[in-house]
Amino acid sequence: MIEKIPEKNKEALRKFFPHPPDIPLSSVQEFIQDHYLNEAKLVELVRLDGERDQNYRMVADDRGHVRKYVVKICGPEENGHNLAFEHAQALHHISRQNQVPVPRSHPRFSGGNIFETLDFGGVSYPVLVLDWQEGEPVGQRQLSLRQYQDIGNKLGQLTHALRGFTGPAITGRRLVWHTGEFLRYWYFEGWQKLFDTESVKLIAAVEQQHAKLPLHELPAQIIHGDVHVYNTLLNDAGAVSGIIDFGDMIHAPRVIDISNAIADFLLPDSDVEKVMHGLLSGYVKATLLEEAEVDCIAPLIQSRLALTTVVTAFRRELGASITPQIAALDDASLTVLRKARSLELVDTIRHAANFMPRKTPVDGSMYQRRLNTMGPRPLLFYDPPLHIVKGEGVWLTAADGQRYLDCYNNVPHVGHSHPLVVEAISRQLRELNTNTRYLTDASIEYAEQLTATLHPSLDTVIFVNSGSEANDVAIRMAKVWTRHTGALCMDFAYHGVTEATDAISPSNYPTGKWSRPHVRLLEAPDGYRGPVKHGAPNFSQHYAAYADAALSSLAESGHGCAIAIVDSAFMSNGILDVPAGYVAALLDKTHAAGGLFIADEVQSGFGRMGSAMWGHQHHGVIPDFVTIGKPAGNGFPLGAIITRSEILARFTEAIGPFFSTFGGNNAACAAGLAVLHVIKTENLVARANATGTELRAGLTSLMKNHEIIGEVRGTGLATGVELVRNRATLEPATSETKRLLNLIRDEGVLLGSDGKNGNVLKIRPPLAFSVVHVPPVVIALDKALTRLAQAGR
Ligand code: PMP
Repeated sequence: MIEKIPEKNKEALRKFFPHPPDIPLSSVQEFIQDHYLNEAKLVELVRLDGERDQNYRMVADDRGHVRKYVVKICGPEENGHNLAFEHAQALHHISRQNQVPVPRSHPRFSGGNIFETLDFGGVSYPVLVLDWQEGEPVGQRQLSLRQYQDIGNKLGQLTHALRGFTGPAITGRRLVWHTGEFLRYWYFEGWQKLFDTESVKLIAAVEQQHAKLPLHELPAQIIHGDVHVYNTLLNDAGAVSGIIDFGDMIHAPRVIDISNAIADFLLPDSDVEKVMHGLLSGYVKATLLEEAEVDCIAPLIQSRLALTTVVTAFRRELGASITPQIAALDDASLTVLRKARSLELVDTIRHAANFMPRKTPVDGSMYQRRLNTMGPRPLLFYDPPLHIVKGEGVWLTAADGQRYLDCYNNVPHVGHSHPLVVEAISRQLRELNTNTRYLTDASIEYAEQLTATLHPSLDTVIFVNSGSEANDVAIRMAKVWTRHTGALCMDFAYHGVTEATDAISPSNYPTGKWSRPHVRLLEAPDGYRGPVKHGAPNFSQHYAAYADAALSSLAESGHGCAIAIVDSAFMSNGILDVPAGYVAALLDKTHAAGGLFIADEVQSGFGRMGSAMWGHQHHGVIPDFVTIGKPAGNGFPLGAIITRSEILARFTEAIGPFFSTFGGNNAACAAGLAVLHVIKTENLVARANATGTELRAGLTSLMKNHEIIGEVRGTGLATGVELVRNRATLEPATSETKRLLNLIRDEGVLLGSDGKNGNVLKIRPPLAFSVVHVPPVVIALDKALTRLAQAGR
């Protein structure tokens, strides 16, 4: 027989492919009794498989409490004691970080040492006693996508928990199972002799590919490194109940935690995309991976599979133990490797990790196609326009793969594609989607939850599909109630696209081009640019008094006042800081003239203003109508009017029952319910307050270097930055604002502009925006302003 590994090498190699210790059961029993059990009684001690350690399942009866443990008698490696110590410490560290179900080492019986040593035959073996984790190993089972996601997510949490853990022994250890060091060390020399020609070719190809990976540039930390189907336990309900066996922890590129797991969860007949997508999409919810890491996953999966084959072959050759689990993984590894190499997995992987496909051709003809089919003069942001293909949380991804921090969009209120909202809508669509002419759970539940956030008088919900419709129908109701036809709104208001709402949206028209016989405009309470400035003692009275003349004029014209309408965030007017008292005074004057008051909460609602769930609550008033739209369904069309039951009753007496086909459909209400749930559970209202305050502090700090910033203002996550050419004359920097939007987009941040002069930067991100996103915005604006100033010189 040809000697595959020269005899003289075998001795040196055995150190790297060790046997587990082999201590007689009687000695183990005696040691356990003395060191761990004390008063407790040993009920059972059953040997378990182990590659390097001599393992037992132990059942002990401690004065009636029967408990299960794992006893690990570790190999007497050079630094075995340090490794055992760090092993136990790591487990404690993880359980202090989060809820990943991992065992804990048990010092309880041993007077506080986290491991003990067993001396046998002149050698000292470290011993760890760990909690027994209940559950069945995944083994050869095929799982559902949800289960793979659950496992991936737990692993992501585990990687995350180990992030801050340091251990010199683990960091310094050399392990044959280190995928990152695939075939790199001398102990694998001559591996080719252990395989047939075809396998040698395959493994050599993987090795070549591996050698090109930029692994040393990737984030590295201590990782579990060995989460496979026998180390992952599921409970009866099929959820993860334990991740075990931390004996192979190493310091490595952290991505190896997930790439090893994917490799080991793939069985020969697995749906590769499902396993991969499930594990990885779950993982990145807990540990966000960088693009360079994601691009190493496909090759690293192959490296792991090839490594399993090579290590097992060496162990066989050296007569080292091969546990049934390793044998099973090994049996599958070459088959799975071939399958993995035959599939184009890069885009599946990038997609699961929230990156765009590598090469998306940017379609130059898109703009023309848009003109051809959707008409001339399109309202498109940015020059050149952005082709957006994906959204997640506060991030938008363009077709060229560039990611942008979205500080503009308020429709995806709790974050783009929030998984809970997506799930709620999809589940509802799979089940039923119909209309409110039937009794439907979601609409009633949503109406109840919505009214619970409002003053008790606002007890009745009428469903429509958009903010415009909500305002339009509120106006219809008010006309019936008041028998008037006139309206009051701000001088640069926006309330919608229908005939009735367009009439109260002067911002739809160029300055001076708007006029409606039944509508009067009010000078907006602008304490920066208006006739009375911030802090003036008569501020609110002064601005509210504009309503007196307007109401008299409506009365004289015979229209009378049906409604006054206010967006509590004064968004289109440039996000004004309006002190307490103004809105209340306007509401009182409206009521005195026999009109009703509409709080248009399309912008200001659902916690946007941070101080309260609703903008009108921020101003301390109780309106007659609350109208909602955009953020309500996080992107799924959902609008509503909330009013007093008597107002709806009078309306339906006049017109008959009111019904809108799509209004309040089950899916829309499921979206609405999920949004309310997320606002509550993620504490978004208070967060909007805190984050907004921090954002404005950061933006204000830019004022000393950038003269162009005239004022930073706003409430919660509605922030305005007014740009002026001259801080004394307040000359609006209108064209500069437009250029700045493009410059800051080049810095990866999306903003908008608003206000009569188009010179107010509008920073109105999804409420998923948090303090971690503040510095990037401030830095990007700083840079963009600097470039703007340089270009102007
Ligand atoms: N009211 C306000 C304050 C708005 O901002 C908007 C939309 N931007 C609307 C009403 C109209 O809503 P929709 O576009 O859903 O019709």
